[in-house]
Amino acid sequence: MRSFFSTLLLLNWGLLLFLIILAIGVIAALDLIAPGFRPLLLFVYVLIAIFGTFYVSFTIARKVTDPLSMIEKKTKEINAGDFGVELSSPEILELANLTVSINEMAKRLKNQFLDLTVEKEKFNSLLQNLKEGVFAIDTKKKFLFLNRNIPPNIISENSQFSEIKASIKNKVLLSFIESKLKKGIEGRTEFQEGNHFYNARIYPIKSNDMIHLHIGVLLDITEDRQNQLIREQFFQNASHELKTPITSIKGYAETLDYKLRLEPGSNEKKFLDAILRNTERLVRIVEDMLTISRLENHQTIIQTKSFLLLELVKNVTDSVGVILSSKEQNLKIEIDPKLKFEADMVLIEHVLVNLISNASAYSPNGSEIKIRAEEKIDKYILQIIDQGIGVSPEDSERIFERFFRVDMNRSRKEGGTGLGLSIVKHIARLHSGEVSVSPNSERGSIFTFEFPKK
Ligand code: ADP
Repeated sequence: MRSFFSTLLLLNWGLLLFLIILAIGVIAALDLIAPGFRPLLLFVYVLIAIFGTFYVSFTIARKVTDPLSMIEKKTKEINAGDFGVELSSPEILELANLTVSINEMAKRLKNQFLDLTVEKEKFNSLLQNLKEGVFAIDTKKKFLFLNRNIPPNIISENSQFSEIKASIKNKVLLSFIESKLKKGIEGRTEFQEGNHFYNARIYPIKSNDMIHLHIGVLLDITEDRQNQLIREQFFQNASHELKTPITSIKGYAETLDYKLRLEPGSNEKKFLDAILRNTERLVRIVEDMLTISRLENHQTIIQTKSFLLLELVKNVTDSVGVILSSKEQNLKIEIDPKLKFEADMVLIEHVLVNLISNASAYSPNGSEIKIRAEEKIDKYILQIIDQGIGVSPEDSERIFERFFRVDMNRSRKEGGTGLGLSIVKHIARLHSGEVSVSPNSERGSIFTFEFPKK
């Protein structure tokens, strides 16, 4: 195999040598033949020289153009996704190197193509076998793909490439998705279709701040809902069943205390006091359980009205004042006297009582408790800030669960039921808001109760 340059040189030199030898032969022959034939001999020589040059040029051109057109054909095939057979190696070195590179490129592309196909298959089978319904929506509000776990009564079957408006049958889901697509943000909602409850999530896929598509996930939560209902029902029944016997135990214990007039310091008096103390606690627990049941069953239809928050806070602090003064705690109120909340006043009072008594219970004597509130364009914010023991980040979600206490003994000692924050959370939900805890920069915690304006 030679390079193009040496092939060119070799063929040209070969031609030149051939013509020189032929010319010597012709000169030698000129003396031997009759003068009349000499022009004919010269003419034949010129003719051979012309055809020889033409032949050499043609051969050189063919050696280049044939492999080049083969390469062109092959690259077109690769472009069309046909990796087919390998190119055979041409005689010219440069072109041979080019074909080797093209063959290697085709092999690599073929492997990558196969890998991609396998990955796509894996992704597809994973997607199709998910418990959740998964779909993607492009920027033109059309479905890009949908897996088979999407119930056809929510999104029509075979909706790929069709508009979401025409395909989504559930009105709540449609308006939720449309609003999130419009704002380009992620979101989560719950909705009902027939006897089933679903959780829907949607989030945008972005790169360079550009949204390319939205991914949606649908999960059937009917079973969870039913379990939750059973738990709530049990909670409600248990609290109702406990209320009557506990009230009667309390009544009898109080009567005994009154009638027996036991010696202070005697064992009998200590036992009776313990019975009374614990029945008091049980009564509080049952009352809190009943409150949660009422809030959960949405029996409490919230009675929204506009009221001056500072007035309500003052009423509440009057009633919890005894607890605060017993620990010599100082209450600081930072609320604009004109600030009005649009909410259920009775429930907000519950929130204040629970959060202020907790702030007092979990803070040392002589510390300060601050109550702040503000109105934003879209929401109301109420904060209770203490300088107490604080809540660790791991517990900051769990303290809102029923009966969760960071320190069971301390909670008992403070007369806690373990249900106060759960009640606050339910009240936040009823106002479509939320309650959270964060660390106070000095020491202690900040409990934030916020809810949107109507
Ligand atoms: P409890 O009746 O035990 O106070 P809650 O539901 O009101 O029940 O509170 C749950 C737990 O959260 C408490 O037991 C306590 O561990 C923690 N907690 C609540 N408020 C505070 C606070 N202000 N500072 C520190 N920990 C708190």
